[in-house]
Amino acid sequence: MSSLYKTATFLLSAADVKQLPPDEGIEVAIVGRSNAGKSSVLNCITQSKKLARVSKTPGRTQQINVFVLDEDRRLMDLPGYGFANAPLAEQQKWEKTINDYFDSRDCLKGLVLVMDIRHPFKDMDMQMLDFCQHHELLVHILLNKADKLSKGAAKKTLLDSESILAPYGEAVSIQVFSAQKNEGTKELQSVLNKWYQQKV
Ligand code: GDP
Repeated sequence: MSSLYKTATFLLSAADVKQLPPDEGIEVAIVGRSNAGKSSVLNCITQSKKLARVSKTPGRTQQINVFVLDEDRRLMDLPGYGFANAPLAEQQKWEKTINDYFDSRDCLKGLVLVMDIRHPFKDMDMQMLDFCQHHELLVHILLNKADKLSKGAAKKTLLDSESILAPYGEAVSIQVFSAQKNEGTKELQSVLNKWYQQKV
């Protein structure tokens, strides 16, 4: 099923949820703090540098970038959060976009939440997790940049993270990842495969 990701194409960038394609099929969204590696992860999933570049295009970083996998499945690149010193108006705009998106998409199956393994579970990450729980969405967390830690330290962070996540039950899963080394992509794709195969 990995060919599903290789044929991903960019459809559009939406500043408003009204511009999104019809709420049909299955959608998976990717989100995370800015600089955690969201674009690099997109790159790993689709094995295409072109797509990840879209999510870095000025003017599109604060929009929802839509990638089409096939006629029933989409991958949504949500705006990143946690910019240092972001003006209040920008933060409020981000919150509105995210709220409108979650409220309007029945086709949304789950979220890939990208965190830097050296700085996981920041306030906004926890808020995002609670938000997903409220909307009964599945979440798969990537502890990205694992290449920055020793294997032992990465494993310890994974174990510590699993206890933080225990209250969320089976709705939340987690893995170690390195976009730079393309490590963990198969595991991630197999989670996505399950989500995309299960109709909502
Ligand atoms: P985004 O802002 O979340 O889209 O993050 P980017 O994908 O642009 O990555 C932010 C920075 O982190 C860039 O300099 C990337 O090269 C770097 N980066 C992303 N993933 C990894 C990784 O797995 N390991 C390392 N060492 N650096 C990474």
